[in-house]
Formats: sequence, C-alpha cells, structure tokens
Amino acid sequence: MTLSIAFLGLGHMGGPMAANLVAAGHDVAGFDLSAAANDAARALGVPIAKAAVAAVAAADVVITMFPAGRHVIEAYTGRGAAPGLLAAARPGTLFIDSSTIAVDDARTAHDLAVAAGHRAMDAPVSGGVVGAEAGTLAFMAGGADDDFAVALPILQAMGKRIVHCGGSGLGQAAKVCNNMILGVSMIAVSEAFVLGEKLGLSHEALFDVASNASGQCWALTTNCPVPGPVPTSPANRDYTPGFAGALMAKDLGLAAEALAATGVHAELGSLASLIYRRFADGDGASADFSGIINDIRDRSQHSEQGAS
Ligand code: NAD
Repeated sequence: MTLSIAFLGLGHMGGPMAANLVAAGHDVAGFDLSAAANDAARALGVPIAKAAVAAVAAADVVITMFPAGRHVIEAYTGRGAAPGLLAAARPGTLFIDSSTIAVDDARTAHDLAVAAGHRAMDAPVSGGVVGAEAGTLAFMAGGADDDFAVALPILQAMGKRIVHCGGSGLGQAAKVCNNMILGVSMIAVSEAFVLGEKLGLSHEALFDVASNASGQCWALTTNCPVPGPVPTSPANRDYTPGFAGALMAKDLGLAAEALAATGVHAELGSLASLIYRRFADGDGASADFSGIINDIRDRSQHSEQGAS
C-alpha cells in the first residue's frame, strides 16, 4: 500500500531526507515556512504543498524536522490564528517527529497527538547533512510496536540503521545519552592531545598508542581533533563541520535538562554542556565540535603565562 507522506521542515536535514523519500517512490508533499527552503527542496525533486495544513490533511504519515521542541508543539497545536497540524489531520494519522528535542517535549508531543486521535513516534537522527543526503542516517525510534512497523520502511528510505529504542520519548533518550558520551569523550581526547603537546609527545605517537589501547573511542579514531592521524577528520579541513559546535551545545543542553529532570549526578555531562555552550557562544558555533581542542590549547597558553 502506498502511503501519502507530508514532510514539514525542509532545512539542511529535512530537504535531502524528503528527496530520498521521493527517490524511493513515496508519495510526498513537502512544506517549509521558508521560501528558500521550499525552493531548495523543489530543486531536489520534492513536490511542495501550498500550506502545511493542506499537506497534512491529505497525509497518512506526517514527518516533522524542525529546529527545537517548541516548534514541534506549536506546529502540532497551532499558534495564534495559525491552525494546528493535529486538528488538520485525518483521524489515525501517524506523526513522526525526527527533530532533536527534549525527552519531555517528545512525550508531550506524543500525548497531544494521541489525545487528538492520532498515532505518534519520536525518531531523531544522527549522521548529519552528509548522512541525510546519502540516505545513511541512523534513526533512534520511540513509540508503539505497530507504529514502528508502519514507520520502518519509510525510515529505511532515509537511513541505514534504524533502532526501536522503546516507547514514546525513548528515541530522544537514546540520542541525548549517546551525544553526552560523544561530547565528554571529545573533550577528554582534546585535553589529552594538548597535555601531550606540553609534554613533548607527538600527535602521531599519542594516536598510535591510544587508538590501540584503552583510550580508543570514536572521537579519537574517526573525528580526531588534530590534523594528520585520521585524514578524513574535520581537523584536516580547518574544522569545517562535520557536526557543528552549535548542534553539540544544543544536544548537551538537552542532556543537561534531562539530568536535572531525573536528578542524575553527572558531573562530566553537566560540565561538557557548559564547555560546549561557551564554545558555541564564542567562535565555535559553526566550526566542527572537535575544534574545542583550540579553545583548550588557547586557555592552556593563558594559564601557563599566568603561572610564570
Ligand atoms: P534547519 O534550521 O536547517 O531546518 C529546520 C527547518 O524547519 C527550517 O527550514 C525552518 O524554516 C523549518 N520550520 C520551522 N518551523 C516550521 C513549521 N512550523 N512548519 C514548516 N517548517 C518549519 O535545521 P536542520 O539542520 O535541518 O536540523 C533539523 C533538526 O535536526 C534539528 O532538531 C537538529 O538538531 C537535528 N539534527 C541536525 C543535524 C545536522 O547536522 N544539521 C544532525 C542531527 C540532527
């Protein structure tokens, strides 16, 4: 059975994701509030609807790819005179939100959709714009088994690894936990390289040891923060992302919210959130998140001068 899909939010990620759905033969109507985003998606072959509610009213499945939780909830419920998507949809429509948002917001969005007579899942992604374009995203899905069964072939057209993490909100939970590991480990790897520099240890020597020892991790062996050891890492192209500092700061902010809500005493996760917020508020927002090593190196010079 062919399902009609409304795809809302055709930005850096949503545009190419919607294009991959079209390429896989799905019946897609896209829409974005930005005319430029609509034009870019149209150029990728995505049919554009006149309005979000028009696309949603004709859809079996609604996918949203928005910046933050408030955009999702406002779009679902409506804002001011603007009608909400939940009211516009036919009963039983499956809403899949692929934005990265707080676990609590994902559960609120899910509950609003169900109260309006619909079905809902959270399915955030990792893999960045490159993964969105190549159709190789990883999806972390939260929702009921039968809804996941409907969503799976759709998500497979946009990704290569789809994990059903459990009930509502648990896709976002998996994403926030993974990215907390990533943020903390990138800071740890960067601190170790700067310490090695001060001690006279070459980048290559530290890499050769740590990548084959207990310091091994993705931040070291795939996204290595110094140029040289891993030629494909963003450090070799002046920290062009990759995964931008602003997005890491956002995701660690969501982790910090979840830590506060659950009372988990995560000192490193909390500190990583502060460190990446400072990085993004400085000049790191549009640099790859591995550029944090330059901040650490700069601060180390200042403190060395201060000590002498
Ligand atoms: P983006 O800002 O490029 O795109 C978001 C789009 O949503 C914008 O074009 C905006 O106009 C549109 N939008 C907002 N409200 C809307 C509404 N009510 N109706 C229609 N369109 C609306 O952001 P992005 O980089 O595509 O990221 C989208 C989501 O994916 C974010 O939650 C982000 O955290 C997450 N994410 C991004 C990346 C990445 O590398 N960019 C990686 C993983 C996850």
